[in-house]
Amino acid sequence: MIPARYGASRFPGKLMQDLGGKPVIVRTYEAAKATALFDEVYVVTDSEIIFDEISNNGGMALMSQKEHDCGSDRIAEAVENMDVDIVVNVQGDEPFTSRESLEKVLSVFNGPDADKIDLASLMTEIHDWKEINDPNTVKVIVDQNDFALYFSRSPIPYPRDKNVDIQYYKHKGIYAFRKEAIMDFYRLPMRSLEAVEKIECIRYLEYGKNIKMVVFNSVGVEIDTPEDLARANKLLKESKPNGINNKFRNFPMVPKVIFGEGSFDQLADILNPKRQQMAPFIFLVDDVFQDNQEFLDRITLRFNDKMLFISTEEEPKTSQVDSLVQDIKAEFTNLPSGIIGIGGGTVMDLAKAVSIMLANPGSSADYQGWDLVKQKAIYHVGIPTISGTGAEVSRTTVLTGPVRKLGINSDFTPFDQVILDPELTQGVSKNQWFFTGMDCFIHCVESLNGTFLNAFSQSYGEKAYDLCLEIFLSDSLSEAESRAKLMMASWHGGMSIAYSQVGVAHAMSYGLGYVLGTKHGVGNCIAFQFLDEFYSKDVALFKEMVKKHNVQIPQGVCKDLTEEQMDVMIDVAMGMIPLWENALGDEWEKTITREKLRNLYRKM
Ligand code: NAD
Ligand code: ZN
Repeated sequence: MIPARYGASRFPGKLMQDLGGKPVIVRTYEAAKATALFDEVYVVTDSEIIFDEISNNGGMALMSQKEHDCGSDRIAEAVENMDVDIVVNVQGDEPFTSRESLEKVLSVFNGPDADKIDLASLMTEIHDWKEINDPNTVKVIVDQNDFALYFSRSPIPYPRDKNVDIQYYKHKGIYAFRKEAIMDFYRLPMRSLEAVEKIECIRYLEYGKNIKMVVFNSVGVEIDTPEDLARANKLLKESKPNGINNKFRNFPMVPKVIFGEGSFDQLADILNPKRQQMAPFIFLVDDVFQDNQEFLDRITLRFNDKMLFISTEEEPKTSQVDSLVQDIKAEFTNLPSGIIGIGGGTVMDLAKAVSIMLANPGSSADYQGWDLVKQKAIYHVGIPTISGTGAEVSRTTVLTGPVRKLGINSDFTPFDQVILDPELTQGVSKNQWFFTGMDCFIHCVESLNGTFLNAFSQSYGEKAYDLCLEIFLSDSLSEAESRAKLMMASWHGGMSIAYSQVGVAHAMSYGLGYVLGTKHGVGNCIAFQFLDEFYSKDVALFKEMVKKHNVQIPQGVCKDLTEEQMDVMIDVAMGMIPLWENALGDEWEKTITREKLRNLYRKM
């Protein structure tokens, strides 16, 4: 819910001011919608001008029937007769409200103490004594579980003993309410603490509600004055929020790579100079190798080095990363010298994520998104044993978290070292070889047919595409040649999407993965066969490959889905905005409707 009052005392009509070609309120509405976190987004307003503006732009707006003193009352009136569990308020004058902040405030309702929480809100660390003393800044103090104890315009706590280390927090006006909580607020009269401090949320405390506070340190841009608006316009020009689709990307590449049959045996020599005293190397190894003693003998464990076997039964999860990190921290006093991942895309992604999380606080779920990682990861090495995903070269690690499936995409994600030894892929089964190989083929197709394509990604994409045709359609290659070429196709396909993006098959595959747990490569193939409308020539080639290798693509996986599951699947797919923008351009929503995706999924 975005409460939007037309008359603002300090800057009248500010919500209708122009921000990069659209009114501020439309920007805020679009930003909230683009997070894909909500079932519905509404603007609630007292103004016909705002109502019309939102409606004419295809958005949903509600008129307040009554006069209201505050945004909470306006929201309460709007949701009174709606069937909702949780309502989030987004400030109308904060067009850059980030997805991360909203996601954080929502995530507590999936946490261990969710039952106790009536509402949740954000707080930001403050350090400047002037700000701590400023009555316009509302301070908050919390108990050991981050439940609010009190809000005040006074500095709380009062620093009687200057030697006690204390962190001050400022309250940010973003809330997620359970419906009962906001309805109670609406019905219950104001009491004296609220009245004297002029702070709305004190009413909840005065009536015994539990407010869970969440720390969020990034600062938003609030538009309170014409100067703020000028600054926001400049900001908008300089960078798109999140920087995902920037025209120019400055991304790191894997700095060291060794290639060739037998190159795996160089591992010990590569690691030696990186070894730190008392700090082990941790080897994450696909458990398919658990009984392969001949292979394991080629990995030399020294001192306190440790090997952990990783099951690939499920796609990597944030909880799995967190528990691996916890175990490593519990067992060793020093941070490891490095993490070595040996396996397919699953193990590559886990190795990247674990190396990041050993150097950064909190849960890996906090870092799902673009450029949220603050500290450099510890040294990490990737050794693929199956080819296709490009995970060995990419800047992301795809994880399923409590709220969504999304990569930790950062400059610190890529490996410091990769070993490409085609011999290691020898034991891969025919079907698996095909599914993972098709991930590479589909990366190329989606990159080469996308609107983000430039000469950089085209040069990698075309090479990888040709290699795939040679591997999967010609009969001219020996097995060893084919393995080596697929390893390089995977690498080039990964490089190609680094500067472009994947497309329709991946967006739909994410939906299948989220709801049914379908593996990435299999999901891509299930989707791709029905995408002739988007990639006709390549879907035909794909079908030829399927036939030539006599592979069975699972059929009918969506036929028993409930409507609810189908809706979630569509939500997840629709939420992959950069993928759709790449596939179909800015106007993608004209082609891709929920009905369209439903029809496509029903075929699968
Ligand atoms: P995978 O890692 O799950 O491996 C597939 C199967 O092959 C597993 O059963 C594994 O045990 C087996 N296997 C691997 N090497 C083998 C060998 N040498 N011999 C015998 N069996 C072997 O599958 P994948 O397709 O490589 O990776 C899929 C994962 O990669 C997904 O989780 C996906 O999200 C991720 N991915 C990441 C990126 C990225 O850029 N980070 C890109 C694409 C996909
Ligand atoms: Zn992929």
